[in-house]
Amino acid sequence: MRDASGNFNLLHRTCSLVVFLCFLHISVTVIYYMRNSDSRQTFVQNQQNPQIHRKLTEQRVATEESSLPPVSNVTETERKLETCPDNPPRLVGPMRVEFSGPVSLDLVRSENPTLQPGGRFKPTDCIAQQKVAIIIPFRNRDEHLKYWLYYLHPILQRQQLDYGVYVIGQDGEETFNRAKLLNVGYAEAVKEYDYDCFVFSDVDLIPMDDRNFYKCFNQPRHLSVSMDKFGFRLPYVQYFGGVSSLSKEQYLKINGFPNNYWGWGGEDDDIFNRVTSKGMSISRPDGIIGKCRMIRHDRDKQNDPNPQRFDRIAHTRQTMARDGINSLTYKVVTIEKDQLFTKITVDVGKP
Ligand code: BGC
Repeated sequence: MRDASGNFNLLHRTCSLVVFLCFLHISVTVIYYMRNSDSRQTFVQNQQNPQIHRKLTEQRVATEESSLPPVSNVTETERKLETCPDNPPRLVGPMRVEFSGPVSLDLVRSENPTLQPGGRFKPTDCIAQQKVAIIIPFRNRDEHLKYWLYYLHPILQRQQLDYGVYVIGQDGEETFNRAKLLNVGYAEAVKEYDYDCFVFSDVDLIPMDDRNFYKCFNQPRHLSVSMDKFGFRLPYVQYFGGVSSLSKEQYLKINGFPNNYWGWGGEDDDIFNRVTSKGMSISRPDGIIGKCRMIRHDRDKQNDPNPQRFDRIAHTRQTMARDGINSLTYKVVTIEKDQLFTKITVDVGKP
């Protein structure tokens, strides 16, 4: 009896073990099957549509690549650029400036191969601190413009500015209006790019030191402080002529420049009055860094001294709110995009 029940127990345990092993086998098979059914389905789809397969694979590779840390052999331009330094490394300091040798536009073009159409430039090794539009009022001064471009383009590049050069030519033979042309330059430049600083320069003034930055400062800046024409000193303390810079904010605060100074003189004094009447002061480089040379020339036709200038200067505070960038009207006649400059010729009307 005991033998029979012992055999039965052994048989029962063996059968239970077999049933358990079978159950385990089936469970593992089912789990394995379910886990692979997704990829099998994708495989079948991919077999049916190899294009989708390629796309999916490419997407996956791209996602994986973008999450990878940067590889060590990325080029300089691919790396995140830093803001350009306050003291650009390639400045040379004092420079020889002379106007005896001939200069051609082709020479200047060949010496500035990285300029973009319209006289545009931005550094490739850092992000410029400011976007500067340089505005030159112009009429019949092609010889001077060549020298200006010859000297200034390399300086502005060494100063690591993101800049564009705008030559604003007055069309026709009417009396010249420098300040109105400067307003036109501002209005046209902001249509093209997000400039935050504006340098207003006469075409015949060349800085003699590249540490004289053609950019904007906390206060409106006078750059041509030490001109050879005035014995390398300011002719008077309020003098704001020649070359100056204003940030967009500073320019708009004074409603831009006057539009009704026809002929030579006074408009720069009016701008000085605008600046000081709005509680701003004039910032200047020192007399060494601020040295500059003027290209000698005869007085232009249709630019005789303006006899009304003294009266107008005396009333800047009363007139500036209604005469300025908010009342500017003009007609664009032509726009020329050269490698070295954007030249916009405009009809500014007459006195
Ligand atoms: C005129 C200015 C000029 C300055 C220097 C002043 O009398 O009003 O417009 O820039 O002389 O020549």
